Amino acid sequence: MKKIVIGILSFMFMLTGCQSQDKEAPVLTLTKSRVQIALNDTFDYSLYIEKASDLQDGDLMDQVSYSDIDTSSVGKKTVHYSVEDQAGNKAQKDLIVDVVEYVGDLINPITAQADIVENPDDVTVLVNKLHEIPEGWKPDDLEKVIDCSQKLRHEANQAYTQFYQAAKEKGIEIYTISGYREPETQQLYWDNSVKVFGQEHAIQYNAYPRRSEHELGLCVDISYTMDGDRLSEKVADSPLGKFIESDAYKYGFILRYPQDKVRITGYGYEPWHIRYVGVDLATQLHQENKTLEEYYEG
Ligand SMILES: [Zn+2]
Repeated sequence: MKKIVIGILSFMFMLTGCQSQDKEAPVLTLTKSRVQIALNDTFDYSLYIEKASDLQDGDLMDQVSYSDIDTSSVGKKTVHYSVEDQAGNKAQKDLIVDVVEYVGDLINPITAQADIVENPDDVTVLVNKLHEIPEGWKPDDLEKVIDCSQKLRHEANQAYTQFYQAAKEKGIEIYTISGYREPETQQLYWDNSVKVFGQEHAIQYNAYPRRSEHELGLCVDISYTMDGDRLSEKVADSPLGKFIESDAYKYGFILRYPQDKVRITGYGYEPWHIRYVGVDLATQLHQENKTLEEYYEG
């Protein structure tokens, strides 16, 4: 009898011993690290859960819990996702949600809550309506472009010169329209536009101060002509527009505001605006058909 009791006791000990061996937290992954949604839209929390599983308990997709966010006000919000296995091990992941106000398809920068970027010197830096250049920052290696007095940062300019010459060898003429812009100039453009034409017009046609890539010295507006409508959608259909599509990435440039990504970039289609990010990243974005936003938020 004594032996049986000891046997049962040691069997129970083995059982509890086995259970306490699950010290491994479940795996929780999200499809994105940051997303934008429109003010007052319903946020689909489950849409961004990619995987929730545990070595012992298997699939835990149905057991992921998440915190609520308020989409009735603009701003940067965080959804906390968490999942727990039977042994009580937890996994957590955060998703940043930018609740933004759209004017048409464009993000309204006036109400948008922007992060201040920490790496404005980096050629891969993301600057847009939600990522702002620090106040007072200016590039210190600007130089004149090949065909006029517009300026770019040294590395971008070297690449631009090669791109320019490669186009020329194919008989494609490039006119540099606009490169680096002083923050003071961008501020002036914005203020004037609001004053003369109103906020909606400014949102449509001007970049908000400190949220324009032109202040980085890494982008340039180019055209096939110096005519009045040089910065129009006609650029896309010109040999230059086609050369940008097919070859710009080889020199480290991307078409920054594509036609089918307006909701993602927050800017309208600009077939004339190319941005230097370096050959490696430009090649990757070209191959994956991604914008800079998708690269950072994916
Ligand atoms: Zn531009």
